[in-house]
Amino acid sequence: MTDVLPGRGSGRGLSPAQEAHAVQAEGLAIAGLVPLSTVDWPGMLVATVFCQGCPWRCTYCHNQAILDPTAPGAVPFGELTALLERRRGLLDGVVLSGGEATGQHAIVPAARRIRAMGFAVGLHTGGAYPARLRTLLGMDRSGRRVSAPLVDWVGFDVKAAPSGYEALTGRPGAYEKARASLGLLLASGVDHELRMTVTPALRDQVPSAIDLVAELGGRALVLQRARADGAETQFAVALEAEADWHGLFADVVEAASGHGDMRGVEVAARS
Ligand code: SF4
Repeated sequence: MTDVLPGRGSGRGLSPAQEAHAVQAEGLAIAGLVPLSTVDWPGMLVATVFCQGCPWRCTYCHNQAILDPTAPGAVPFGELTALLERRRGLLDGVVLSGGEATGQHAIVPAARRIRAMGFAVGLHTGGAYPARLRTLLGMDRSGRRVSAPLVDWVGFDVKAAPSGYEALTGRPGAYEKARASLGLLLASGVDHELRMTVTPALRDQVPSAIDLVAELGGRALVLQRARADGAETQFAVALEAEADWHGLFADVVEAASGHGDMRGVEVAARS
């Protein structure tokens, strides 16, 4: 993900009096807005919206400042729609990122509004809220399509091996939610990219993550080398102390490619 650039505009909170507002597009708590990104949705020119709040606490997180789900947004939704009006013909779409974008009720009307303006909608998620993801994918509880998806593409973060989710995210039950979400995404037919950020501590979990992808019907996984810049100090120091992390990551990718070949999952690398 692109790191957050704080936005302009007055802050908005999530007080009880604003509950009704929170289910409208205008209620989306936006922590930051990047007006132009070429990296957040491969092949697309997008504006990237960083939604406030995330229930997980991944050790390598680059967006620690926006994890508190009770914090108000910094960018009014109107600032995004005004940007889109100015950039018609220049932008292909909007990526809803985070934080965990599916943590907010308002993500659904926001996606609908962006779509109605004629822009494609991309989503970054780790799958912490499968029920809301299901709504965005236009599916019902049984996994059947009941309406057109509200998202055109999903960048899904496979965080770890099933046994490693709790330790990485700091949250019991994280794996069950992620598995449900990944299953919904792969059943939906919505275009997607599955990716995994690999840290030295996670490298031994890559084969099991590939097994999970294969089991649920995924056919490709992009491995991303964890970076120290922007991460919490303890993680950054430990990563920088790792001798030849670049070389180690290359070895992980090579081994993962062989495992992926056996499981029908194409493995690629992004450094
Ligand atoms: S899912 Fe993990 S990496 Fe992503 S915003 Fe939440 S804590 Fe950070």
